[in-house]
Amino acid sequence: MSQLDELYREVILDHYRNPRKRGSLKGPHVHAEGNNPSCGDEFALDVAVEDGLIIDAAMQGQGCSISQASGSMMMDAIVGKSIDEARDLTHKFKVMMTIVDGDSPVDPERPGAVLGDLEALQGVRRFPVRIKCADLAWTTLSEALDRATDGDR
Ligand code: ZN
Repeated sequence: MSQLDELYREVILDHYRNPRKRGSLKGPHVHAEGNNPSCGDEFALDVAVEDGLIIDAAMQGQGCSISQASGSMMMDAIVGKSIDEARDLTHKFKVMMTIVDGDSPVDPERPGAVLGDLEALQGVRRFPVRIKCADLAWTTLSEALDRATDGDR
């Protein structure tokens, strides 16, 4: 295992063991749920949106380390961002994971510069069945953001 792989493994385990923003929101929020039957992962989240900005978020769920760590990293990454920025981040993540086509957003010379901790998940690409585990939180987020902006359309 390379040094970078080892570092990435540590980052994933840290998020899995100490998930950020686990729980639920008390104030007004949208809720979305998803699951990944191939692995048994479940993920749900609350997102509070005000004036197009994600002011808070909370996650619930259970499953493998990849699915839950991905959700925890996502929580860290989206709070304080606008809905557009969160959608852009979702797209970049899905490109990195080869879920959607595009030019890789990740700079191999500067690990973590573009996607932060999320880049720790790129090793999962080598295990196609686990890509769905990493993607679960993001697909669920997309649903929540669609719901949050329903009134605007
Ligand atoms: Zn899984």
